[in-house]
Parts: sequence; structure tokens; C-alpha cells
Amino acid sequence: MHRLLTSIAQHALIAVGVATLGCSRPARIGADLVLTHANIWTGDPTQPTAAAVAVIGDRIVDVGGADEIERWRGPATTVVDAEGRRVVPGFNDSHVHFVDGGTQLDSVDLKDADSPEEFARRIAARARTQPGKWILGGEWDDQRWTPPQLPTRALIDDATGGTPVFVSRYDGHMALANSAALGRAGITERSPDPPGGAIVRDANGYPTGILKDAAMDFVTRVIPKMTTEDRLRAVKRAMEHAASLGVTSVQDMNPSYEDVAVYADLANRGELTVRIYAAPTETGFYDQAKLGIHRSFGSSWLRLGAVKGYADGSLGSTTAYFFQPYADAPTTRGLLSAEMQPIEHMRTRLMAADAAGLQLCIHAIGDAGISQVLDLFGDVVRTNGDRDRRLRIEHAQHIAPKDFDRFADLKVIASVQPYHAIDDGRWAERRIGPERIKTTYAFKTLVDKGVRLAFGSDWPVAPLNPMLSLYAATTRATLDGKNPSGWVPEQKIAIADAVTAYTRAAAFAEFQEREKGTLARGRLADLVILTDDILTIPAPQIKDVRVLTTIVGGKVVYQRRP
Ligand SMILES: [Zn+2]
Repeated sequence: MHRLLTSIAQHALIAVGVATLGCSRPARIGADLVLTHANIWTGDPTQPTAAAVAVIGDRIVDVGGADEIERWRGPATTVVDAEGRRVVPGFNDSHVHFVDGGTQLDSVDLKDADSPEEFARRIAARARTQPGKWILGGEWDDQRWTPPQLPTRALIDDATGGTPVFVSRYDGHMALANSAALGRAGITERSPDPPGGAIVRDANGYPTGILKDAAMDFVTRVIPKMTTEDRLRAVKRAMEHAASLGVTSVQDMNPSYEDVAVYADLANRGELTVRIYAAPTETGFYDQAKLGIHRSFGSSWLRLGAVKGYADGSLGSTTAYFFQPYADAPTTRGLLSAEMQPIEHMRTRLMAADAAGLQLCIHAIGDAGISQVLDLFGDVVRTNGDRDRRLRIEHAQHIAPKDFDRFADLKVIASVQPYHAIDDGRWAERRIGPERIKTTYAFKTLVDKGVRLAFGSDWPVAPLNPMLSLYAATTRATLDGKNPSGWVPEQKIAIADAVTAYTRAAAFAEFQEREKGTLARGRLADLVILTDDILTIPAPQIKDVRVLTTIVGGKVVYQRRP
């Protein structure tokens, strides 16, 4: 509140200053921005709806009816007329990989290339515009081709020549290298498969260009590291993308220290248009702890003080860690991550990080992975004592029925990505069977148990667009169109709960609920005008809703062109 009062006082002084310099009008505070004629969902239970908002500096000074707010209009006030549209607090994505996302926006896009010819055409076009420069990214999906078949280097070698290409399948578990890239990596027909990886070969034993899992490292090792300029460009592209989608805050998981340095430079120059909470890797917790950095330390634009760790892998790669074997891979029940082995080391680090005042965010997907993290969190609470620490499990996909109450008792936040539910929902039952899917992406059970849900996308693993996540959480309609009335429909949640999870609860998950996530007096002026009313339209239509205007800190950072 202090900052707000200071801000108002400064404005008053400026106004008085102008008055004493000969302006005859009496001194009065005009808002910098007034948003009016809006259908506002404030997220604030004490005043759930409003029609207008006044902003001074980067904060909301008043929320109310259009007439009430009119008195804030001064000669220099910017007025944004929402024309009756739905306005909500800016979306806060609780789990992104921001620099990866920005990088992907500039990479060749193969996701919807639905034939080998189209795949080759797009790569050839990219090679013409940037000859000699590595072509990366891709996100191709061979299952879209009829018949499905893995691409080969022969498809692209002629068109790319000496330009190295290394484009990934969308799941990140295999990639196609052209001959130039194989050459730089030193891969030949004589190269053996590495442990945990495979070099796919043709009938004559020559590499086809497809490298699986650990074999991909041969090439990634020789790709030049991103420069600071590359990183800056990626962050700028990511910020533009976020603004266009109404994402005003992101919680960035596992940024490198070079990433944070770029954020810090942008923050110092006043050039961030999205607020960033950076959670570097848990194994490096001491880097923050030794400086005395606590949870949520920093400015409203850039904060540190969380650590992000991994307990297990993913469902798609059968590395999420389960109590029982996979239904379609009965020899395995997944893998605990390297940082969980031995578990005592993980426990020691988490205890120390927590004692240092850092927030713990741990990736756990399989039921046994989640259970082990809950055990560890229980140890942390018992040893370090009760306090407001907002422990988080990232993903929390497949929860054992016995563990829902533990989530609630330990006040663990479930940081979940609803889009994965409609994506994995296409094949998850085949992988883990009919029983375990009942408590898979179990958003309704979590809500009913009083567990706080914080929504995010996991961008670029899934799209950054919050509308797709809201659509996913409220419809659970899988991407293949096979479950129009919902996959495990008991786990659908109400749209108001979903929007809360993407705004107020996401702010809570980063200790910022008094700063943002609701549209109320004193809060940061982060808000979004939408084309349609997501709170009342049929849920299947939510995915097509667009953002008209995004305002961050009282400034318009995105305006959709008519
Ligand atoms: Zn992630």
C-alpha cells in the first residue's frame, strides 16, 4: 500500500506544481488511465464485478461503476473504452520455459506440416533465408502423415547442402539431422549406439538421420551456444507473444543464469512487458541461499527466490515414476530423477533451501514420484517448523488416491497444466490403464479437497495461450475429438475456478496475491480485454476467444488490430 500512497502523493505534487505555475484550474488528481464500459470480473470476492477501473502509475486506484470512475478522468487521462467486453485480471502462467519458448517462435515450424513434402519444403525455405546457420526447433509429428513414417535426411539433404539441420519431434525424444549436421557431429555408419539412445539406420546400415534420446546428444554438443543477443531476441519474441495472449506474468522454470541476466538488463532498462518470477534449478539452491535471497525477492517485474527440482520424468517417455508398472510397458514403472538418487541428498538440499527461505517447486508426474515429494515436504515441515512456505508440486499429473489429503494437509499447491490433459488424454489410458486415469489431471478432486490449483501451460511443451488451458480444464475434450463431452468428465472444473487458478491462485503460488491476480484498489494494473465473455459462453467456444487489449502496469502492451 505504501507504494500506492507514494505514487498518489507524487501525482498530487505534480498537479499542485502545475497549478502554481499559472494554471487556473484547481489542483486535482487525474488518473493516468481509465478503463470504462467494461464487463469486469475482478476476482475480488468483496467486489466481484465492476464496469470501470482507474489507474495511476502502475496501480489501480479505484474500481467501480462507470459513473463513479468518471471522476478520475482528467485532461491527460488515457481512456480505454472496452465497449462492454469482458475484462479479467492479466493471466499469470505458473509454469513456462520462457527463453525456450521465445527461441521456438523463431525456429522453423513443422508442427502442422502434414506430409513429407511439406516438411521438406519448409526446411528448404528456411535454408534459403539463413544459409549456413543451424536450423533447429521443428516439433514435427510423423503421425500426421499418411502413412506415418519417420523422415530421413535424404528428404532434405539436396535443399540444405552445407546448412546443418537438427529438427526435433514434438515430444523431444527424437530428432532428424541432415548430412551436414551428422558430419559436424562425426556420426557415421561405424558409430555405435550410445547407452540409452539409438542411431536409426537404413537397410545398408547407414544412418537415416533420425537420432533417438541419448543419441541426440552427439549433435546437441556441436550446436553453438546461444549468444546474449540470441537470448535477448528470444525474450523479446516471447514477451510479444505473451502480450498478444493476455499473459502478464510468467513463472519461469529452470532459467539459466544467462537467462536471468537478460531479464535483469531488460528490467533495469524498463523494457520488460511481462512480470517474471524466475525459479532456477534446485541443485543450485546455494547460489541464491548464500546471498540471502528469500522467496519472491525482487521488484514487481523480476523476482527470484524459488528453486525448481525434478522428481521423475514424463508419461510420454514412460519415465514418470509409478507404484505399479506401465500398462503398455510392464517391465518398467518409470524412473526417479538423478537428483532424487540417493533420496537423502535431495532431502538435505530441500531442507537447507527451505531453511534459507527459498520456495520449493518440484516436478513430479507419476503417483510414486508425487508421493515421494510429499514425503520430503512432510519432512521439511516437521523439521523446519510451520510457516507460510507455499510448497509446490509442478505437474502433479497422476495422484494416488491416498495422497489427495496429504496435498491439502501440507498446503501444497498443485501447479498444473490443463492442456496436457487434453493432449495426453488421447493415449494415457493405454499407458496406465483404466483405474489410474480416474485420478489423472484430477483438478476437480483437488478443488474439492481444498487444494490450491495454479494453472500454467509448460510452454513451449504446450501452447502459451491461456484460452486453450481454460478450455481444457472446463471441457476435457481431447485433441483427437474422441471425447467431446470430456475425458474423465468428473474432473472438469467450473470456468470461474479455472480463471481463478490462472490469476489469483497463480499469484498466490508466487507470494504475490496482494500485488496482482485481482482487480482491486492498490493492485498492479495488469488486465486483459477479451473478444467474448469466457465466464458465460459455452465452454467449447472458449478456445476461440481472442485478446483485444493487454495492459501491464497501466500501460497498453498489446492492441489487436481490427
Ligand atoms: Zn516444464
